[in-house]
Order: sequence, then C-alpha cells, then structure tokens
Amino acid sequence: MDTIFLDAPNLGELEKQYLLKCVDSTFVSTAGPFIPEFEARFARYVGTKRAVSTQSGTAAIHLALHELGIGPGDEVIVPLITFIASVNPVTYVGATPVFVDIDPSSWNMIPELVERAITKKTKAILPVHIYGNPCDMDAITEISQRHGIPIIEDATESLGASVHGRRTGTFGSMACFSFNGNKVITTGGGGMITTNDEKLADHMKFLVNQARDESKGYYHPEIGFNYRMTNLEASLGLAQFERLPDFLQKKRRYMEIYREILTGVKGIEFQEEYPDSISSWWLSSIKINHPTKDLPQIQKELKEKGIPTRRIFVPITEFPPYEKYKKEEYPNSYELYEKGLNLPSSTLNSEEQAEFVARSIVDVIEA
Ligand SMILES: *Cc1c(COP(=O)(O)O)cnc(C)c1O
Repeated sequence: MDTIFLDAPNLGELEKQYLLKCVDSTFVSTAGPFIPEFEARFARYVGTKRAVSTQSGTAAIHLALHELGIGPGDEVIVPLITFIASVNPVTYVGATPVFVDIDPSSWNMIPELVERAITKKTKAILPVHIYGNPCDMDAITEISQRHGIPIIEDATESLGASVHGRRTGTFGSMACFSFNGNKVITTGGGGMITTNDEKLADHMKFLVNQARDESKGYYHPEIGFNYRMTNLEASLGLAQFERLPDFLQKKRRYMEIYREILTGVKGIEFQEEYPDSISSWWLSSIKINHPTKDLPQIQKELKEKGIPTRRIFVPITEFPPYEKYKKEEYPNSYELYEKGLNLPSSTLNSEEQAEFVARSIVDVIEA
C-alpha cells in the first residue's frame, strides 16, 4: 500500500502552473498581482469585506492583537488545548493569557467558563476552532456583545468550516488563518486576517509593510512589521484555493469512513460538531478509552501497520513559560490529552486507506 500521511500537503500540476507564471513574471517577492487577487478571493469565499495576507498564522494573530491595541496589563481568554501559536502572540504583545477548559464533546472552549474568566482587564476572547471544528459561536458572540469584548477567531485550522451557513472567520472583529504546510490549504507558509472593518484592514496592510507611508517614500510614522506574504506564496495559495472544495470534501469523507467503521467500537468517541455547525475536519480525531493499552502503545501498534497518528496538543500550562498561568483544574483538557488522537487526514490518502486505518484501529483495540 502507498504511504499513509497524517497531514501532508497535496500539490500538483495547478500549483506548478501558478508558480511558473509567478517566476516568469519576476514578481516573486512582496509586490505582484497574485497577492491582492488571493486576498480578494479569500475575503469573498469566507464572507468578509477584507482579507489581509501575512507571513504566517502566528504573524496574523500577533498583528490582530497589536491592531486592537492589546498590551501589558491586558488579558486575553484562550482555550487550554490549542497549538502554542494561539498563545505566544498574546505574550509577544505583553498581555496575559487566561486559560479556560474545553468541552469534552466539541473540544472547544466552554462559553460559560469564558464568561466566568472575564475581568476588567479582559481585552479579547480568542476562540480556536480546534482541528477545524467551529466553537459555539452563538454563545461566545452573545458573551462578547454583552461585555463589549472583541473576538479574535483563531480560524487557522477551520478554513471552509461554518456555523448556520456562515463561515468561520466572519464572527470576530478579526479572524486569523494559516497556510502552513499541513493546514487545509498551504502557501508553503503564510497567513490571512479577515475582517469587515475597512479601517482595520487598511491599517494592517500598512503595518505589515513596516508601517511605511509610501506617499512620503521611506517614511514610517509608526512601528510596523515585515509580515507581508510574497507573490510566490500567493500564487501557490490561488492554486490551492481552486482545489479547496475538493480538499474539504475528501476530509469530510475520511471522517465519515472513520465513523462508519468505528461507531459502536467500545471505548471510541468522536469529536462532535455543534448543531448546525460544519467542521473543516482538518484533522479527523477520536478519543480512545482502553482498559490496558495507553496511547503511546496504541500509536506504536498503528505505526507498525504504517499508520501515522498524533496526540492532541499538550495543555499549554504544561510548558515552562506558561506554568505560572495555571489557575484551576482543567479536567476535560487533561482527559482529552490523555485519550485524544489525530488520525490520517491528508488529502493524498485514498478512501481505501482511510478504511484500512479504521479497521486497523479496531484490530489494535480489540487485540
Ligand atoms: C497552525 C496554527 C497556528 C499558527 O499558524 P502558522 O502559520 O503555523 O504560524 C495558530 N493556531 C493554531 C491553532 C494553529 O493550528
């Protein structure tokens, strides 16, 4: 059987064509037509007025926090289970992350705990649509509005996901996407901020370009960043974007196959969507409760069959820089960390391979 991939990118002729066109144009750096084209198409797809491209998802989150003026003394509410890049930008701007536990079914931040974590210092709520599964945006939006605290969505894993037919990336005052090599689509490395606020978008376009006032030459009235996406990256992004519907369909199909075969198997639970929510299923993921085998053992046995898996993100306060922020018990996060596995979800995999993965899980669990 061909190699089974966890999250490898899917690149082909279309990507080659776009890249060649870009190289032939000589516009490989931060000027060139593919950048505004990618931004415009992205905004249209997600459903916001604007999209501002960046060098990475991490840069996007940093820029969004900076744009809202968040800094020392301010607090930002984040889920305990996420990739470190949701949280490090909070530290970059000098603010304090406040961690909340996750829901054992959706694996996303619990709205009631978000509300309880709000203080006078809270300046943003940063919901992460983990593994592509949208957060309870009805409840989080309601809390945000009632307290007048803006939302910055970490939509880095959820391109194509939606709530009541509305795409993730449209709920916050800003939302951040990633095009890292393993995400739903890749530009090699890159990110995007979506927003309906033209003023914020214009200002962020200015900030990513070293806060350069081009009407005055090399004049910089503010401290900016070099967070620009390149035309080369945008060309790759446009090619990948054309294939997004196909990628999303494949990822959803893998999840369906895993469910068809694993439903009813003792000890298996799935990550669940909220009603009327659609996940991007960036990574199909399950929880395994096994009486004798721990996760490393299960992973080892699957690896021997050629099946790569990955454990759920480590609760952030386990990392030395964040230990001091551990304020309470987070039982659901720790339970998920102990039992959760990401399954092969690369769109390079075939449906037969997904079936093989699911059957192998049954074998390993029931052996
Ligand atoms: C990938 C990711 C990011 C950061 O994106 P990069 O493009 O890798 O910088 C942030 N948050 C989450 C949840 C991610 O998965």
